[in-house]
Amino acid sequence: MTRSYTIRTYGCQMNVHDSERMAGLLEAAGYERSATDEADVVVFNTCAVRENADNRLYGNLGHLRPVKDGRPGMQIAVGGCLAQKDRDTIVRKAPWVDVVFGTHNVHALPVLLERARHNEAAQVEIAESLEVFPSTLPARRESAYAGWVSISVGCNNTCTFCIVPSLRGKEKDRRPGEILAEVQALAADGVLEVTLLGQNVNSYGVEFGDRGAFAKLLRACGDVDGLERVRFTSPHPRDFTSDVIAAMAETPNVCPQLHMPLQSGSDDVLRRMRRSYRSGRFLGILDEVRAALPDAAISTDIIVGFPGETEEDFAATLDVVEKARFAQAFTFQYSPRPGTPAADLPDQLPKAVVQERYERLVALQEEISWQQNRAVEGRVVEVLVSTGEGRKDGATRRMSGRARDGRLVHFAPGERPIRPGDVVEVTIGYGAPHHLVADGPVLSHRRTRAGDAHESGTRPGGAATGLGLPGFGAPPTQPAAAVPACGAQA
Ligand code: SF4
Repeated sequence: MTRSYTIRTYGCQMNVHDSERMAGLLEAAGYERSATDEADVVVFNTCAVRENADNRLYGNLGHLRPVKDGRPGMQIAVGGCLAQKDRDTIVRKAPWVDVVFGTHNVHALPVLLERARHNEAAQVEIAESLEVFPSTLPARRESAYAGWVSISVGCNNTCTFCIVPSLRGKEKDRRPGEILAEVQALAADGVLEVTLLGQNVNSYGVEFGDRGAFAKLLRACGDVDGLERVRFTSPHPRDFTSDVIAAMAETPNVCPQLHMPLQSGSDDVLRRMRRSYRSGRFLGILDEVRAALPDAAISTDIIVGFPGETEEDFAATLDVVEKARFAQAFTFQYSPRPGTPAADLPDQLPKAVVQERYERLVALQEEISWQQNRAVEGRVVEVLVSTGEGRKDGATRRMSGRARDGRLVHFAPGERPIRPGDVVEVTIGYGAPHHLVADGPVLSHRRTRAGDAHESGTRPGGAATGLGLPGFGAPPTQPAAAVPACGAQA
């Protein structure tokens, strides 16, 4: 009897992509995707960065216990960063869990499920370092028009608030040839957009001694036939060099979009976060990017309430935000993560103080985002149509998608048979704080192979799909759902 599976994904884009690998592995082992949230095998791909991540996991496991009691042969597996951190604590707290695997041995999932069934005993297997690069594993991709491509895993930085290095290990870089082969294969399957993924993409190449490797990779993506859009996440300001900016500006399919985590505008706080850059350098990078790419949309991550943050420190953050004019900011209230140096720092701030500052920061950034989006009104933009239903106002039916600069666009398709994966051009009529609206006529509609694939339900790599199934990460062109890949807090 073919057994079914479902994957519940939490956390960053790295996890969303790892889940595509887990699905690929299970389907290669003969499992089929469940059409509902219930299945013979339920896999949790966990995050350890989000606050209360552990409470949420044990809560979900608690809900599944009676379901499992009522469904003979059902198995539960827990993977991802929280599994890497908690290990056999998970089966101690939830003995109805069958498999616990970590971030370094995703490939072991099918074998561990079989072993648990055969031995009728829980299997906990956590590797201390990467055994198999996840990108060498089969993938069952979510989207026909956009794909994640890992270029590295792990991180060599030691930001004091971040648990990622202890759970994902030191940076390991894929060979450029392997990455390009994957990008070419995706484009050959009709994928129009790839996002290069890494905890710290612009230190790519450090492992094989080529500091210019990331800029070269971007330029090489420029020569891939059929590839229309290249994005990347997350860069680190310390390693963001002029050759990368030049590659962005001189490679037509690299999108004019940059997500660059600031975390704090106070040099003293940045020092205690061990972020190894200061606000002046950060703003200098933005100036250089804007000189080379005047229409680039720049977003960021900011943590409010880091231990010892004074009102002056916070004022410095507001000042940098004022100067930086971000199109969007992921803003987080600091929360101590057990196992990080910052969790043991003195001067942990009262929640009320953090909340009040957080509200001030959000109000300022909301105003700036809105002004930035108003400035796009009247502009003609190209939109890669995504699956998301567009914003409904009264009778107006809309579809949605992303502009080249990453902005979310809701547009009225009229009577045109537009499909996710197709490309349209529209005129922006209104800029809202977090999205753009185009209710005028669609100026052009290009039917694409990605649109055909989406319509026929095929996915890159030939997998058939049951798209829209719950319990799985949102398609990649809607990053709002997933926290950025680089250890921001939430
Ligand atoms: S915040 Fe990002 S750069 Fe810093 S240690 Fe975490 S993953 Fe690495």
